[in-house]
Amino acid sequence: MTGPADEAASEADGPAGPGPGHQHLEQRFCPQCAAELVAGWGPGGQPGCPACGYVRFDNPKVATGVVVEHEGKVLLVRRNHEPMMGRWTFPSGFVDAGEVVEDAARREAFEEAGVEVELDRILGVYSAEGDPVVFIAYAGRVVGGAPEAGEEAYEVGLFAPDDLPDLAFQHDPAIIEAWRTG
Ligand SMILES: [Zn+2]
Repeated sequence: MTGPADEAASEADGPAGPGPGHQHLEQRFCPQCAAELVAGWGPGGQPGCPACGYVRFDNPKVATGVVVEHEGKVLLVRRNHEPMMGRWTFPSGFVDAGEVVEDAARREAFEEAGVEVELDRILGVYSAEGDPVVFIAYAGRVVGGAPEAGEEAYEVGLFAPDDLPDLAFQHDPAIIEAWRTG
């Protein structure tokens, strides 16, 4: 998804990166009347405001990534920022509001790995209980540029499909399996 030199800097209202483990910034006061919000007050257990009836619904964040094939290998980037700093994953990042998801996937591949990719197919939509991030994964291949680490990656690597390193995020193994069996 997205990997800014400091992903958090470009995601002021969201988690620092796709995957499990990030924290929501909690909003303590009602945006309508400034009374203190009460945990679990909403009909589905959301925080809410007994004074005016406001309920705070948290929306998911949409992230996307692409398993990029290049010369028979899989292109991965090694993250230089949290979460999962130092770990390998495929180019991925958050979708901006109003951005076409496929464009976001291509943008991330270019920003993180210096390659222009064409998307061949969607691999799946991945979500997990308690994880605010919904991840949409694609398969693609390099159609331009040369693999080079962007600001959000220590390095770019090309790996044989049957010899991939341990990947950073919880959905990554399922995504790679979907890519292999596609
Ligand atoms: Zn209120």
